[in-house]
Amino acid sequence: MVFVISAPSGTGKTTLVKRVLEELPNLQFSVSYTTRLPRSNEHDGEDYHFVSPVVFQKMVERGDFLEWAEVLGNRYGTAKVDVNSLASRGVDLILDIDTQGAKKVKVKVDQAVLIYILPPSMKVLRDRIVNRGLDSLEMIEFRLSSARKDIEEAHRYQYVILNEEVENAVEKLKAIIVAERCRRDKDFILEEKQRIWEENHGKNYGRGLSEDGREPV
Ligand code: 5GP
Repeated sequence: MVFVISAPSGTGKTTLVKRVLEELPNLQFSVSYTTRLPRSNEHDGEDYHFVSPVVFQKMVERGDFLEWAEVLGNRYGTAKVDVNSLASRGVDLILDIDTQGAKKVKVKVDQAVLIYILPPSMKVLRDRIVNRGLDSLEMIEFRLSSARKDIEEAHRYQYVILNEEVENAVEKLKAIIVAERCRRDKDFILEEKQRIWEENHGKNYGRGLSEDGREPV
């Protein structure tokens, strides 16, 4: 399965995703490619693969991306992944991508689950972006107006989580992933249980029928 998580920048999405990756088994983070420069706390290959615009363009032309988009003046892309081979190892993928990318993934990947993280208010979002101290005033205003537009896309997502309080939001995100996994595994569990039941007790045990299918005498 692919869990797609979007939120306006400054919503605290990265923290939520990190927590869920630590606390739930069999989840893998999809490291995107970007032409943006690394921030001081970011590591190449961990947070992003940081590449030049020329390299990114080559990857676009080669068809290396499942999706890519331009966000706030930089390009970001998700490398094509073999979702089936991950699934055969029982691993699900988390994509932290914007709303444009989410739309494309929803069309291309059957088992994509879209989750949108909302900030409690625009005021809180503004304060968080300012307190991060990473952006110029101009960039802060740009991020806020992009956030407004971005939030209008939230109704397309299957889930929306309000990130008022981190612990509560982490629990909700984990609950969604666990529930979606249960839904996916439903048929497999039922078939497996049926098989074991029949192996142990015969095909008609418990159905009021004898082994040959006739009513018991
Ligand atoms: P930031 O520069 O703050 O790390 O990310 C800016 C935005 O780009 C975020 O909304 C993030 O989710 C989005 N983003 C990161 N990687 C990708 C990607 O591979 N594809 C798309 N479409 N968006 C991405």
